[in-house]
Amino acid sequence: TQRTLVLVKPDGVRRGLSGEIVRRIEAKGYTLVAVELREPSEALLAEHYAEHAGKPFVTPLIEFMRSGPVLAVVAEGHRAIEGFRSLAGATDPTVAAPGTIRGDLGRDWGLKVIQNLVHGSDSEESAAREIALWFPAL
Ligand code: ATP
Repeated sequence: TQRTLVLVKPDGVRRGLSGEIVRRIEAKGYTLVAVELREPSEALLAEHYAEHAGKPFVTPLIEFMRSGPVLAVVAEGHRAIEGFRSLAGATDPTVAAPGTIRGDLGRDWGLKVIQNLVHGSDSEESAAREIALWFPAL
């Protein structure tokens, strides 16, 4: 069985969509292992987004991720990593398929950082790394 790290980003929490997003994770059949409202430090986010270090959007991205609370969730189930990526939909909410979190609830606001409501780990390696980073006690 797999565990994946899901983050409801500040745009999702601000818009009052945390419950709706957690509801979709549960409705899909995954188990909640941890759910915590957090205000991540710059250092944690720099680690979280280490693979994007040097890209032009990483500084604004970290700033955006510190613009309000984030709901950090660990969800568990067979193929939960791929399963949540599928629930989330494509990175660009304008073209994310209807039926997905980003496709149903997201849009492009014309800002420098794409506000797409959620993050989900993209591989077993990143899930292990990200869960250790956000929930060292797990
Ligand atoms: P996440 O990692 O948040 O699940 P993702 O895997 O779909 O999203 P990544 O390519 O890992 O997307 O990028 C991380 C985040 O950075 C995106 O979710 C988005 O908020 C932002 N982002 C990515 N590419 C761009 C871009 N070209 N311009 C602005 N923001 C971007």
